[in-house]
Amino acid sequence: MIANASFVARAEAAYLGLAVGDALGATVEFMTPREIARQYGVHREIRGGGWLNLKPGQVTDDTTMALALGRAIIADGGEVKAMSCASAFDAWMRGKPVDIGNTVRRNLISFRRSGNPEAPPSEHDAGNGAAMRVVPVALASLAWNDDEVRAAVRAQSHVTHNNPVSDAACELIVLSVRDFLCGNPLRHVYRRHIAPTIDRFPEFAYRRRRRENPSGWIVDTMQAVLQSLMDADSFEHCLVDVVNRGGDADTTGAIAGMLAGALYGMEAIPQRWLKALDPAVHRACREQARVLVSIAENRHPGANRDSDGGTTSRRPASAAMTSG
Ligand code: MN
Ligand code: MN
Repeated sequence: MIANASFVARAEAAYLGLAVGDALGATVEFMTPREIARQYGVHREIRGGGWLNLKPGQVTDDTTMALALGRAIIADGGEVKAMSCASAFDAWMRGKPVDIGNTVRRNLISFRRSGNPEAPPSEHDAGNGAAMRVVPVALASLAWNDDEVRAAVRAQSHVTHNNPVSDAACELIVLSVRDFLCGNPLRHVYRRHIAPTIDRFPEFAYRRRRRENPSGWIVDTMQAVLQSLMDADSFEHCLVDVVNRGGDADTTGAIAGMLAGALYGMEAIPQRWLKALDPAVHRACREQARVLVSIAENRHPGANRDSDGGTTSRRPASAAMTSG
């Protein structure tokens, strides 16, 4: 079964969107909007630097953890298993990543001690570290129903962040990305996923005031991402808007990049950003996107074909797969 070309291209765009958002935002991570404006005017080029002193096109933990997660899912034939995710993240940490979040480090160290891949529930572990890496789950999830998606999201997230607010954000991102991959418009995703999430978790309401200098708290992160996503009319506009808010800019860039990549597709990602991205990362993201989609498709043939002329007889159970 050959996957629908526009669908695969959107999957690649979601993954590359994460990577270019990370590489773009990392330059201005922990800066305020005022500092960014003074130094760059509007920051719109992938140029490296920042507090991590990156090479141009270099990515950070957001992308490298996603790639570790994607490899684990692929090795398990498309399943998301907590123990495999924990082992993959642990191996990633041993590889001396360029940066690592505090919650990620603490809970991976306790995994080493306990062997339990699920971190203890914690009201404090509502950082954005589980959400920033979640895109491979969306690509593996095409034929699953919403409950199966939620279980898979939690298996990967709870390795480091066992927290209901983090869970809500991770689920929102994954369910939204998969709807965008099917060609659904932003207003559909707003109605089906964004508004219901805000009903259940009012802290995500993002319209009160412009969220600048977002912290690593997932609520700040998602408010900034949703403001940029809802108000932009292009991939570039969305990413430039979100990273120029400063704060945890590589992570807002990464999450906005997944969503806007899936929504606007490959043609919308500026060529200059794709060219600037570390070539090995570029290849790995594309390759994983293709493999994850093809594994998902082979488990459920026809799963990604319902929105443009594919068969309807093999339509998957998930309502998320329909375009209405
Ligand atoms: Mn990072
Ligand atoms: Mn960050």
